Order: sequence, then structure tokens, then C-alpha cells
Amino acid sequence: MRCTHWRRLPPELAREARERSASGCVDSAVRCQLSAHDTGEHYGLLDDLEYGTALWLHWCETDVALAVLPDCPTVGAGPDREGCRLFLDHAERHAWVDAEGEASEGS
Ligand SMILES: [Zn+2]
Ligand SMILES: [Zn+2]
Repeated sequence: MRCTHWRRLPPELAREARERSASGCVDSAVRCQLSAHDTGEHYGLLDDLEYGTALWLHWCETDVALAVLPDCPTVGAGPDREGCRLFLDHAERHAWVDAEGEASEGS
């Protein structure tokens, strides 16, 4: 199960994120991309950047900040070798573990 926490970007961070993002447009709110967790920071993906990095919003109770993080290099064991889409040294499980779970739950 994915973490269900959302965070709205403060206006000044939204402006900075737009300036740094490759596409120039970022969502005004992001959902945490980690597996469900009770402790630690939440991480929401804002945009992919060049050279295997991405722009993330990370937050805990009152603190919120931008971070440029390298991509997690791990790929899934399935036939399509799906990439993780999270960042290097992330907490919790790799994204494709959850993607498999959600695919079998839904639709
Ligand atoms: Zn979270
Ligand atoms: Zn990973």
C-alpha cells in the first residue's frame, strides 16, 4: 500500500520548483511515493530532471523542502524489468513492489 499523505506546495516552493523543473510545470500538490509508513519524512515526486535525477518535495510535520535526488537504480524482477522510480537510498520498499500490489487490487 502506498502512503496516502498529500502535501500542497507553499507558493514560494512551487515557484522555485517550476524554475528548476525541465518541463516548467509542476503539480500544486503531491502525494508521498513511499510505501505506507508511520515515521520519517514523506517524499513526493515533482518532476524528472536530467542525468538520472529528479526533483522531490519532502516534508514532515511542519517542515517542507525541495531536494534533487538521484534515481533508485533498482529494477524489478518481472519480465518488463520495471524501474523503481523512487530515489537512491529511499526508505521503505521499491516502487514496483507496490505497483504489483495495486495492479492486482484494482480495476
Ligand atoms: Zn509518506
Ligand atoms: Zn527503489
